Amino acid sequence: MHHPVLTHKPAILAAMDEFNLIQRFFTRTTPSALLGIGDDAALIQPTVGQAIATSADMLVEGRHFLPDTDPYRLGWKALAVNLSDLAAMGATPRWALLSLALPDADPTWLSGFSQGFFELATQFEVELIGGDTTRGPRNLSVQIIGEVPPTAALRRDGAKLGDDIWVSGHLGEAALGLAVLQQRVQLPGDASRIAVDRLEQPMPRVALGLALRRVAHSAIDISDGLLADLGHILERSQVGAVVDARQLVCRPVLQSALACVAGLSYQLAGGDDYELCFTAGTDHRQAIAGLSDTLGLPLARIGKIVPNGLTVLGMDGEPMVISKTGFNHFAD
Ligand code: ADP
Ligand code: MG
Repeated sequence: MHHPVLTHKPAILAAMDEFNLIQRFFTRTTPSALLGIGDDAALIQPTVGQAIATSADMLVEGRHFLPDTDPYRLGWKALAVNLSDLAAMGATPRWALLSLALPDADPTWLSGFSQGFFELATQFEVELIGGDTTRGPRNLSVQIIGEVPPTAALRRDGAKLGDDIWVSGHLGEAALGLAVLQQRVQLPGDASRIAVDRLEQPMPRVALGLALRRVAHSAIDISDGLLADLGHILERSQVGAVVDARQLVCRPVLQSALACVAGLSYQLAGGDDYELCFTAGTDHRQAIAGLSDTLGLPLARIGKIVPNGLTVLGMDGEPMVISKTGFNHFAD
């Protein structure tokens, strides 16, 4: 922790000192690290021949999650959004650092949070090797560290003319979940539960990312909405795209909601999906269809890479009007 210069309040979390808090809630064995939590820095030994893939993503209360969110689900999501970034690189996640600003040291909250975090960490064999803890408005920041053979990394700048564009999963459900929580829409019980689950406990597509090494030409994870994130691939690859919205996969239980609530806006621009959007040559269609079966995850071929522009065909097969200033008009 830094010495607090701007406040005379103790920076440690009074009820339980910082050391005990870390010891009790965040210290687990870290067999794959040379040195884990407890020193000034952790020591890790990367695998020979692999590049380190690392990124950080933070969740801020009031901005990325509602104040009363279940701490277990926050712990899960704080790690999930970071795993999603590594999935989009085709990297194997290995280690994480967790930096927390917390208003207080509430053991019930901390216990739930750490259980959610470690639930997902265990599933993906990620070891927590360090972090930082301080008092402040609730802010959950994870740095993830993974490995990928340098030439196999999935990047945003690799899309090629003629590539198919694919997306995993069911887009729009998380955005619908947020609308449910904010009481902007009402759904039947099971639909509402599915949508909120998808918002609060996204499943990072790590296995898909690994399987796409040497298959996909480019990839990105969808956190800001399909069109915005596909836009990043187009920009970095200096190409355009035609997307056919009729190819997006929709679960029956949510079909009517996604069809009537706001047309295609949730699926095209909703955000918080944490699915992968990737491009691949047409020669890989069968392999990708097979991958969908193996993973039990829908992989929809939704369009094509073209020289320039971004054209979206709506449900009538006609191009939709999309403003140049972004896709904000989709958000309600
Ligand atoms: P320093 O004062 O050297 O920054 P800290 O007191 O912040 O050390 O942290 C002590 C140890 O606990 C370090 O190994 C650090 O990485 C780890 N740590 C601190 N906060 C967390 C956390 N929220 N999760 C995991 N490890 C943490
Ligand atoms: Mg520190």
